[in-house]
Amino acid sequence: MQIALLTLFPEALEPYLRASILGVAQEKGLVRVQTVDFRDFTRDRHRTVDDRPYGGGPGMVLKPEPVFDCVEWLEREHGPYRKILLTPDGERFRQPKAHALAKEERLLFLAGRYEGFDERLRSELAWDEVSLGDFVLSGGELAALCVIEAIARLVPGVLGHHESALRESFEQGSLDHPHYTRPPTWRGRNVPDVLKSGDHAAIERWRANEAHQRTRARRPDLLQEPQTKTA
Ligand code: SAM
Repeated sequence: MQIALLTLFPEALEPYLRASILGVAQEKGLVRVQTVDFRDFTRDRHRTVDDRPYGGGPGMVLKPEPVFDCVEWLEREHGPYRKILLTPDGERFRQPKAHALAKEERLLFLAGRYEGFDERLRSELAWDEVSLGDFVLSGGELAALCVIEAIARLVPGVLGHHESALRESFEQGSLDHPHYTRPPTWRGRNVPDVLKSGDHAAIERWRANEAHQRTRARRPDLLQEPQTKTA
């Protein structure tokens, strides 16, 4: 999978992209994340990416031309990308969308800044417009990293045990079950006996029941949803 991440702050993202799961995925050659500074596609002496909003008001708006030229160049070099625009007014990002995007060969993420993008850029290209939630970040970089990480861990081979990604919260229409490790007793709290019993069927039943109870208590909305892994 080839990922292009368009941002004005590539240097802020690169250490994270080299670390942990994403770093390993890239070392294994399963995912490649390329950060691209769309300021490099400006044509004026001052390398201007933003301007004042028509109609007045505070803040600056990102101009359409540098991003458009950057996308055109990438598609000329590599072929078409599925394009994802990070924006608070987009569709809320959820696990089924991560599964759908994990099947793509090429993904392009665009991280905004300031007041966001000129509306014409949004309508000129076909974007999946994605929000991380009902809050406003100062830029789309962290949102893009979250979405990229959620997708990359679903690419077969990225996690040591692919099965573990498919047993986590939101995969089976429920939250995850509780987890325990050693020591068996810590500050007077014991690991449930069933987990030490070696009875795999009983352990599976206990985990399914705990996951269900937790989901009913914390996220009853998930129990009402049709089960689907695509979006
Ligand atoms: N004026 C925009 C609004 O009120 O909807 C907010 C712009 S925000 C300060 C700048 C950039 O941060 C956005 O263009 C977007 O890329 C990113 N961003 C902020 N909040 C986000 C969220 N909840 N999900 C995804 N991206 C977000």
